[in-house]
Amino acid sequence: MIKAVIFDVDGTLAETEEVHRLAFNRAFSNAGLDWSWDQELYRRLLKVTGGKERIAHFLEIFEKPPMEAEQIGALHKAKTAVYTRMVEGGEVSLRPGIPEFLDALRERGTKLAIATTTSLPNIEALLSSTLGAHWRDRFVGVAAGDMVERKKPAPDVYDLALRLLELPAGECVAVEDSRNGILSAKGAGLRVIAVRSAYCGADDLGGADVVLEDCRGLGLVVLPKSDG
Ligand SMILES: [Mg+2]
Repeated sequence: MIKAVIFDVDGTLAETEEVHRLAFNRAFSNAGLDWSWDQELYRRLLKVTGGKERIAHFLEIFEKPPMEAEQIGALHKAKTAVYTRMVEGGEVSLRPGIPEFLDALRERGTKLAIATTTSLPNIEALLSSTLGAHWRDRFVGVAAGDMVERKKPAPDVYDLALRLLELPAGECVAVEDSRNGILSAKGAGLRVIAVRSAYCGADDLGGADVVLEDCRGLGLVVLPKSDG
């Protein structure tokens, strides 16, 4: 019996990565930097989790002049502000099947939590614009990137989500779209359902217990058939 479902955000609840990419580019241009990340490059950079870490990785592989941690932090903060405005402007919606799945879990009394590398303002912007101002009431725990020491693929963010849920890993399942996310959830001892996403669709999702092509089949996997 599954007592809780823990969700990744980017790529899983919503196809946010393209919005993140555009927000990075707008933040670079606003800062007077002539960097532009195209889709192919962004797909490569996504292997590094966390926005600040991604910028640092970009500087390294393209041998750009080094930046202080504070400068990277300020740039990332500006990017988050751009992203928030884009999401609040209605540029992102939940993936097909997710709203129905969340409702079905709520009806059944299954607890929900979030385990993401993205920052709290990003989650707030996305979920308040798609689930309404009271979105927080639906989730027992929200474990976000800046609340833990090590980002995915380390298990920290899932360990935190489990502590917030006050449940053992064996009674929960994670929903993820990336290899790093699967490794993180597995590291915390969770079963994992992987859903293919636009940006991580080519990832090796073999570490997951179940792989789905989209989110519409989640109910069939998680919810007991006898109740259906
Ligand atoms: Mg993801």
